[in-house]
Amino acid sequence: MDDEEFSFERQRKLLEKVDVLGFEEQLKQNNLYPLKPKEINSLDISLTYKCDQKCRHCHVMSSPSRKEMMSKDIMAEAVDTVREYDIGTVELTGGSPELHPNFTWFIDRLGQTDAEIVLRTNLTAIKTNEKPILDILTKNRVTINASLHSINKKNLKTKKDQEIYDKSIEMLKKLNQIGYGKENLELNLVYNPSDYNLPQNEKTLEKQYKKKLREKDIDFNNLFTLTNMPIGRFLREIKNRDKLDDYMNLLIDNFNPDTVKNVMCRELVSVAPNGRLYDCGFNQALKKPIKPKKVDKITKFNEKELINRKINLGNHCYGCTAKKGSSCFRTQKNPKNTKPQ
Ligand code: SF4
Ligand code: SF4
Repeated sequence: MDDEEFSFERQRKLLEKVDVLGFEEQLKQNNLYPLKPKEINSLDISLTYKCDQKCRHCHVMSSPSRKEMMSKDIMAEAVDTVREYDIGTVELTGGSPELHPNFTWFIDRLGQTDAEIVLRTNLTAIKTNEKPILDILTKNRVTINASLHSINKKNLKTKKDQEIYDKSIEMLKKLNQIGYGKENLELNLVYNPSDYNLPQNEKTLEKQYKKKLREKDIDFNNLFTLTNMPIGRFLREIKNRDKLDDYMNLLIDNFNPDTVKNVMCRELVSVAPNGRLYDCGFNQALKKPIKPKKVDKITKFNEKELINRKINLGNHCYGCTAKKGSSCFRTQKNPKNTKPQ
């Protein structure tokens, strides 16, 4: 089944049909329902679903053939919203945000607000327009959260994965040379497991990555581990390999009620390339709408209404609450008005 056939409707049906205690029911049993936001301090903006890579775990099902791009009008509306509502952090995601033709223009506009800007990058997409992109990132003190799924090239089975690894290492070195991963410019790595398990202990993995990358003269600030969400290509893979029930049971067996207070949907809203708002990027991938409808677009942003909303949950949410929780909320950490100097 190709990406187009594995539609969001199909994914949502699959997740609803899994024979487990529903996530909402789980929260009810733990006196945590309904789940409501604490504040709206971050905007997670998906500029495009296009990506120069096509990863097997990608929840957005991004690839070089995706065409969705945010219009300049919606980008300008997002900048106005950040300024008007004093949003603390703006995280740029995709796909590969760097592939958007107005990427550098957008960062410069956001740089004129008080928000901290965070770029989620796969490292290889920076290559497309390296010089201007790196200048704009340093000028606006953009925090970089970069995916690096392995530190051992020899563990990578395909030639393509090895090439991606080489390009990523080369870009990390370049980022170090211009000051990233040192004192003032933050460079974090983001890790997803390559198998069907939960991530290892974050601090232990961070130590291993730091030691191994130091041997290559590479420094970074923090490593964040993310749980693979049972949506998109990862859902298709576990379904095809008859591992869906096992994976969902793994998430549920590790359900930790203490993580619920920190799930990222309690602090952010996610903006799709077409300007629609969602409770998070995962709901965006599943096209699970934010409610109420009167605030479902960036043009209808209303902080009071959004804080009072009930978050639209589903069984995929178990991916955010297993063990110590997924790190996505820690990549969105800045309180209002604490832009790095
Ligand atoms: S996981 Fe990231 S790098 Fe991989 S295809 Fe998706 S957006 Fe691109
Ligand atoms: S998947 Fe989204 S809505 Fe569900 S708990 Fe995680 S952040 Fe919240």
